[in-house]
Amino acid sequence: MLFSFFKNKGRIIAFFAMLFFATGIAAQEIDILIKNGHVVDPKNSIDGKFDVAIIGKKIVKVAPNIPVSEAKKVIDAKDMYVTPGFIDLHTHVFVGSNQGFADGFSSLSPDDITFKAGITTVVDAGTSGWRSFPLFKKNIIDRSSTRVLAFINIAGGGMTGYPSEENIDDMDPVTTSLAITEYPEIIVGVKLGHFRGKEWTPFYKAREACNFAKVPLLLECHLPEYPLDELLKQMRKGDIFTHTYCAASDRECILDENGKLKNSVIQAKDKGIVFDVGHGGGMFHFDVAIPALQQGLTPDAFGSDLHRSSMNSGMRSMIETMSKFLNMGMSLGAVIDAATWSPAQAINRSDLGNLSPGNEADIAIISVRKGNFGFVDTKNKKIQGDRRLETEMTIRAGRIVWDLNGLAASN
Ligand SMILES: [Zn+2]
Repeated sequence: MLFSFFKNKGRIIAFFAMLFFATGIAAQEIDILIKNGHVVDPKNSIDGKFDVAIIGKKIVKVAPNIPVSEAKKVIDAKDMYVTPGFIDLHTHVFVGSNQGFADGFSSLSPDDITFKAGITTVVDAGTSGWRSFPLFKKNIIDRSSTRVLAFINIAGGGMTGYPSEENIDDMDPVTTSLAITEYPEIIVGVKLGHFRGKEWTPFYKAREACNFAKVPLLLECHLPEYPLDELLKQMRKGDIFTHTYCAASDRECILDENGKLKNSVIQAKDKGIVFDVGHGGGMFHFDVAIPALQQGLTPDAFGSDLHRSSMNSGMRSMIETMSKFLNMGMSLGAVIDAATWSPAQAINRSDLGNLSPGNEADIAIISVRKGNFGFVDTKNKKIQGDRRLETEMTIRAGRIVWDLNGLAASN
């Protein structure tokens, strides 16, 4: 008996070894297996029925028909889309240094807002400068389950309001670039915004910091005195232009008086400027977005410009902005690309926004609801649509952090 066990032990080990090499994964080793979903992973050109296997914090496999016997937990994503976790390229999730803006900005944790929208990474748009970044890191970035990255403001104190944010003497390209090189995993670029003068020095200083640190410039375009044509000419491939579809009277619109895209905008798109929505509480208008989209200016990112006032008005969440573009005629695949791989490329993070094995398992599972829905812009103008995206589940680094309908819960 004992002899036969030892005799067979070799065969048993050989069988499991064979199984391991055949599947690459030993029985019951998968922590979470997402089955039957429609996987959309633009970076890897995946668009179809696939299963996704997660072990610990990592994605280990995306393939058809991974056996359930290999998994400890199975999520049935039938009739749902499985995508990389979304990246919000333009948020404001720091309050430590705000004075002038304190009333408008959120003091919630990013996690309270992100996961229910399928977002696993946010990029703060220069709420902190080099002087306030350590506090931002300590109070928010290090305490959030959401991956929080940042554009650093060229103004040393960040978004402190006027007049301190407009103090050109406090815009230091060298110190700003040193902060970037100190935190290369977190700081992805330099932001210039909320400058109202005619002076181009802030732009050149921000540009210089970008050159030192080899990162892109995010231009928030609160620069009414800078002509749009000249701004776009000065911007370089890879720089980011936000509040793209904005018709506010105090800034220049991307459309001319006949509703046509300005030449400078077309040229900017051609040279590789990244166009971000930057919806916010006052920066997104259907009467710009619809004609711009018809003329081919689709967004490269759905930055929410998140703050309290935008959360509770037309913007609501980034996934609602994605639904707006879906109903304005963008394909679902293009919408998912602009929420995942496209913004990951904009911040030079090839480890994000895709489902390649070895990456952290940041995943969104979404449904496309059919019905009659209203979508509102920041002038309280409405369009009707027949589809709305809904976040069924969000997984951040292998952990289920949002589960709307209890896909992972037991009966
Ligand atoms: Zn902003």
